[in-house]
Amino acid sequence: MTDNPSISDKLLAAVEDRREALIELTQQLIRIPTLNPPGQKYREICTFLAERLGENGFEIELIRAEGAIADSDEYPRWNIIARRKGTRAGDCVHFNSHHDVVEVGHGWTRDPFGGELDDGKIYGRGACDMKGGLATSIIAAEAFIATCPDFAGTIEISATADEESGGYGGVAYLAEKGYFNPDRVQHVIIPEPLNKDRICLGHRGVWWAEIETKGRIAHGSMPFLGDCAVRHMGAVLEEMETHLFPLLASKHTDMPVVPDGAKQSTLNINSIHGGASEQPAEYTGLPAPCVPDRCRIIIDRRFLIEEDIDVVKGEVAQMLEKIKAERPEFEYDIRDLFEVQPTMTAEDAPVVTTVAKAIETVMNKRPEYVVSPGTYDQKHIDRIGKLKNCIAYGPGILDLAHQPDEWISVQDMVDSGQVMALALAELLLPH
Ligand SMILES: [Zn+2]
Repeated sequence: MTDNPSISDKLLAAVEDRREALIELTQQLIRIPTLNPPGQKYREICTFLAERLGENGFEIELIRAEGAIADSDEYPRWNIIARRKGTRAGDCVHFNSHHDVVEVGHGWTRDPFGGELDDGKIYGRGACDMKGGLATSIIAAEAFIATCPDFAGTIEISATADEESGGYGGVAYLAEKGYFNPDRVQHVIIPEPLNKDRICLGHRGVWWAEIETKGRIAHGSMPFLGDCAVRHMGAVLEEMETHLFPLLASKHTDMPVVPDGAKQSTLNINSIHGGASEQPAEYTGLPAPCVPDRCRIIIDRRFLIEEDIDVVKGEVAQMLEKIKAERPEFEYDIRDLFEVQPTMTAEDAPVVTTVAKAIETVMNKRPEYVVSPGTYDQKHIDRIGKLKNCIAYGPGILDLAHQPDEWISVQDMVDSGQVMALALAELLLPH
């Protein structure tokens, strides 16, 4: 039906006509400071969206992720799913945005929760990641429903908790309750800020682990009577520098990961702790002389769709065993903390081809297909929901996420909103 120029043109105009409403909605969302951690104002933002979408004929469900990680009476993990049925049976298209934002941090010159509009940009924490995307999907859906009230199927819009801290009180919880079952939802668009002309097909995998080296405490003036766990960890780091990092750099992927540096396996040493705990800044004393008996690092390994997680873990296990064989008294533990499989939606999946066509119509260019270096809520939709027809597509410049003076361009939101409205027409109107 989007091949019908009159419908396409009407939809493009209907989104453009809502430019002011889009600005206002984005500002309203930014002004609710849904900081995570701790996870505040979740109920307020869900209630605000419930009223807004309820007035437009959406059925509303407010869902608290009771019992999920971080859910408490002080900071309940609230989610909203709004559902608008068409006039007859058809597919369900779901827009999923997270409503939480990360801490403000330093270096702002704008009010982080002011939603200030200046020179075509709206500023604030979450402007780009991803309240701008959430507002855009709502305006796109409203424009579509007003223009094509006789549509088939269902439009769903969700705003979910805790994406920034893993999504367990948000999309993971909803997926476990069946909300992302492919019998219920057929197409998912996550309006994360991946740039308005790019379609994000998925993400690399993640494995987090803690490695601990063990020593023996002794007086620091006689280190030969103890065994220094930090020196043992030094041997681990040395082995990483000489063998593991070069090995990871040699593993390249065919996934279109952006930026280019992430087109290979990577490993970050997230933290290192050894010996006596650091004292608070106000403590003025000297440390006690001790040989450290424990040293721990946390590693954050990002792996490729071509890699098997058992091989990924095996590389580190073999490295530690090699050190143990070569180094007297080397003892260690390794503990898995967290893992996520890589995922990538096929380029010929219906949601991908539909959004690609809409981008060509609105922006007169072919989309770029990308894969995210880090994970986002698609992981839960894929693994728990078993729903493969899912992408991230939304306005905003990815590099601005989590930065001071975060902003979103109004024009980018309008352009993406037009893409979303055309995608709805393609998926929900008869051909
Ligand atoms: Zn985000």
